[in-house]
Amino acid sequence: MKIDLHTHSSVSDGTDTPAELMANAAAAGLAAIALCDHDTFDGLDEAAVAAEVAGVELLRGVEISAELDGESVHLLGYGVRPDQPGLLAELAKVRAGRTERIPTMLQRLAAVGMPVPEEVLARHVGDSPSVGRPHLADAMVELGYVADRREAFDGWLADDRPIFVPRYGVPLRRGLELVREAGGATVIAHPWGRQSREVLSEAVLAELAASGLLDGVEVDHQDHDQETRDELRALAGSLGLLATGSSDYHGLGKMDHELGCNATAETVYRELRSRIDDRGGVA
Ligand code: AMP
Ligand code: ZN
Ligand code: FE
Ligand code: FE
Repeated sequence: MKIDLHTHSSVSDGTDTPAELMANAAAAGLAAIALCDHDTFDGLDEAAVAAEVAGVELLRGVEISAELDGESVHLLGYGVRPDQPGLLAELAKVRAGRTERIPTMLQRLAAVGMPVPEEVLARHVGDSPSVGRPHLADAMVELGYVADRREAFDGWLADDRPIFVPRYGVPLRRGLELVREAGGATVIAHPWGRQSREVLSEAVLAELAASGLLDGVEVDHQDHDQETRDELRALAGSLGLLATGSSDYHGLGKMDHELGCNATAETVYRELRSRIDDRGGVA
């Protein structure tokens, strides 16, 4: 049973619609998939209908843009009841921050000789309520400034590059509490990828595990090399945290990692679902 617990659709910065994603999941041989668009639940109803048709189990997810000590941390929430005012307000605040930083990033791009007309960006954002740097990267590709998303991030958009403008992130502990209050299960996405290892030290992960608010950590992820995976898996085991694996798929031709390239064990998936059931979350 192949299970992929972290994917994106065109409702955030992926390129498959939620329905296409479910069809592609079935074609890739996945038995279960979680759609975890950035800071929005908007794709989940379409995904649920399409998952039935495709014969794939859908776990409802969201990837929350969180923050710890000023660093960006991504929190996966699974089985969250989508009607919780506190959580909805935080997600709305993140999405507003996403939109508000765009003019500054466009000004900076223009200043370095890479003007991106608003209508070109708008075409890549489509009707996503959650605009992100990958949309900007796709516009830069279309305009011939860079070859692909990777080059756009490495040269310009990554957190330590000149075009990057920070935005609001939900304080991590608040995010954990809100997901749990909404009946959900919590997994920190790619905790030791990019810059987040600095803030998510072993001591901090131990503290989060002890708080009882954190269910697991994403271990098998493309941003972790083999040594990092081994260390993180051992730590998760000693802290009693679940270890998941996932593709963080964003659609093909963009960031080339295929559905199911990393996967979650069925026992871990069942445990997450059983916790969500116990907490009154949504199956
Ligand atoms: P944003 O949501 O605007 O902060 O952009 C973050 C998204 O862009 C992440 O979810 C990844 O999909 C992608 N991303 C962030 N940093 C990088 C990077 N250094 N290289 C490639 N993709 C990245
Ligand atoms: Zn993304
Ligand atoms: Fe992420
Ligand atoms: Fe992601």
